[in-house]
Amino acid sequence: MMASWIEGANEAGCHFPVQNLPFGVFSTGDSAPRCGVAIGEFILDLAVLEQAGLLALAGGTNTFAQPTLNSFMGLGPDAWNSVRARLTDLLSVSGDPTFNDDPSARERCLIAQREATLHLPFQVSEYTDFYAGRQHAENFGTMFRGPEKALPPNWLHIPIGYNGRASTVVVSGTDIRRPLGQVRPKGADVPEFGPCRRLDIELEMGAVVGLPSPMGEPVSVAEADHMIFGYVLLNDWSARDIQAWEYQPLGPFQSKAFATSISPWVVTKAALEPFRTSTPERDKDLPPYLREPGPTNYDIELEVLMQPNGAEHAETIARTNFRHMYYSSAQQLAHHSVCGCKMNTGDLLGSGTISGPEKSQYGSLLELTWGGRDPLTLESGATRAFIEDGDTLILTGWAQGEDYRIGFGECVGTVTPAPSFPAA
Ligand code: MN
Repeated sequence: MMASWIEGANEAGCHFPVQNLPFGVFSTGDSAPRCGVAIGEFILDLAVLEQAGLLALAGGTNTFAQPTLNSFMGLGPDAWNSVRARLTDLLSVSGDPTFNDDPSARERCLIAQREATLHLPFQVSEYTDFYAGRQHAENFGTMFRGPEKALPPNWLHIPIGYNGRASTVVVSGTDIRRPLGQVRPKGADVPEFGPCRRLDIELEMGAVVGLPSPMGEPVSVAEADHMIFGYVLLNDWSARDIQAWEYQPLGPFQSKAFATSISPWVVTKAALEPFRTSTPERDKDLPPYLREPGPTNYDIELEVLMQPNGAEHAETIARTNFRHMYYSSAQQLAHHSVCGCKMNTGDLLGSGTISGPEKSQYGSLLELTWGGRDPLTLESGATRAFIEDGDTLILTGWAQGEDYRIGFGECVGTVTPAPSFPAA
């Protein structure tokens, strides 16, 4: 196993060994947010490392003394790979000892994660959410339209998606305010206005676009794969009662626009390379522009945990794997651009809810409780059909190697009460 000299990085179960090196944005005290890499229990300050002359990048300096990763992501795969190779060299036991041998550089460049604030790692240019998990689409369709119409006729031919809101993509740890909206109670002819009563999560992965594509130019699945910088955990918070009333004919709108949480560390495609896997077997042949040129999906273990309001600790409520997705992120990106849609550095693509075939593998409460019919009973004795105020939801995940783990950390959010509106 390749080992690091950084404390904690070689421990079993560590999310951030030297094989991972995920990128993020952090600050300490009143200092300006800047780019860093997670290693063991530390953050490596890339802005200071670059200034100290230990990390030379073609294309100038100050790539990392910025509050977003966008500049670095826009440089493309050659720069991503050379920075990764240099960091691997500096942080490995068997690599270049320059950094390890310099106490002053170590002191200035390594910050304990517990002392740092993590920020949104990149400026989200635009956010698109897909619906590419077959089990989720079948579960959702069965509940909303009935079993005979569960999978829409287009589903096996195109990755279905909608244009979401970049403005409300937030970093893990940000509280989520319960949304207000229109809902139609069962059996009623007209809707009511008020706080969402069926608030839910969606366990997803987010693909982060690094390289842009020009307007009018479709990209192939192979080119799309090349454009992706990395992946984050993504919670597509969903107001099911608002969604049920509004979603036809143009898809979700307010039920999704209030918040999307992402994990703070962008795990690079390079770190995930050993965990590539093909998408499941096709039911219908795909047109050539959507076919996989090789494996474009990943074997990533995923968990959802819930800490109900007042409980001492969080507990796991679902376990699944990213490899269940019917369409990979590269296929989704190829489809997104096929009409000529321009893709930009910082575009975020939600995979769609990741549900496995077993009930314990479902990636939303809607599915886990079957529309609220079978509430969960938690260890604290609390029962939940949907999320209540004060509840905390946590997504976590990792790709498991033989003797190391490529971890994503956590994507956490606590729900706070809805605003009172209109004022009484
Ligand atoms: Mn979604």
